[in-house]
Amino acid sequence: MSLFNAFVRTTLPLAPRPIIRFFARRYVAGTTFEQAVATVRRLAGQGCCATLDVLGESVAERAQAEAARDEYLRMLDAIPAAGIEPNVSLKPTQLGLAIDEGFCRDNISRIVEKAAGLGGFVRIDMEDSPTTDATLRVFRDIAARFPGRTGVVLQSRLRRTLADAAALGAERANIRLCKGIYLEPRPVAYEERDIIRNAFVSALRVLLRAGSYVGIATHDEWLVEQSLAVVADLGLRPDQYEFQMLLGVDPELRRIIVGGGHRLRVYVPFGTHWYPYSVRRLRENPTIVRAGLEGFLRGRLDT
Ligand SMILES: Cc1cc2nc3c(=O)[nH]c(=O)nc-3n(C[C@H](O)[C@H](O)[C@H](O)COP(=O)(O)OP(=O)(O)OC[C@H]3O[C@@H](n4cnc5c(N)ncnc54)[C@H](O)[C@@H]3O)c2cc1C
Repeated sequence: MSLFNAFVRTTLPLAPRPIIRFFARRYVAGTTFEQAVATVRRLAGQGCCATLDVLGESVAERAQAEAARDEYLRMLDAIPAAGIEPNVSLKPTQLGLAIDEGFCRDNISRIVEKAAGLGGFVRIDMEDSPTTDATLRVFRDIAARFPGRTGVVLQSRLRRTLADAAALGAERANIRLCKGIYLEPRPVAYEERDIIRNAFVSALRVLLRAGSYVGIATHDEWLVEQSLAVVADLGLRPDQYEFQMLLGVDPELRRIIVGGGHRLRVYVPFGTHWYPYSVRRLRENPTIVRAGLEGFLRGRLDT
């Protein structure tokens, strides 16, 4: 890691919020639903679909989780008039997982029920490993009641993921597969980049072969190529998988994938609770701070 990157990673949490906001603005569509809709429309013009995420996580009080649930319900109510696809992503701890699993399940269930009524879809994001079992239980319970209307996430960083992929593949679950952003202890997670990459390809193969619909969520061009090889090897049609990328990350790769005739969904986060998400994205790629400086000097930002 370069000295510059190490410096940025260490000092980020000390940086004033306006500085974080400036450098992370490419990752967040704005604070309002209207700003998010404008981003989704712009992406549609580029041939991409989207999933909307109302930023927030780790709430400690029931009222906060209920407020997040109500915000999702209001957003889903507003989506038909906005003329965009009812596809949203949410975090279990934002909906109360750390307070009580049943409470969280009921909150997410109401959101999925509303989305299902619109012919939509709800992705349950995966957070750190202490939440994995509970998240999968919540997902399975809701997926049984609303088949085809919800999906969950697996992280190839986790040692358990191949087994989870086999089990969820057998259930034909809708899975987003990613590397995983959370720092995990070595007993539960791989640390080597190449092992995480190979575990990604293995889990992808298991899921696709079993008939799961997979959102292949990566900006790692090596993994994109490997995933395309798996897709070709299994003879899949473009409607049996999709690629997924985060807003603000590698728009050129996004264009290449879309140009290849593959479905690509962009994760579009918005809202007032932008701080933890923004810090995670900047720590993941501190060079963006340098790119942000260059973009600032050039007076433009390609998102
Ligand atoms: C749609 C989507 C949803 C996700 N949902 C979850 C989830 O529910 N749970 C979870 O734990 N993780 C989630 N992630 C994050 C994921 O686990 C990884 O942390 C993230 O995608 C980086 O891994 P990578 O595969 O892109 O490979 P990397 O090797 O990290 O990145 C490959 C290349 O992508 C570019 N890049 C990567 N990140 C950035 C960045 N922040 N800024 C600028 N360029 C960057 C760089 O050029 C880098 O070299 C999600 C990712 C995506 C794309």
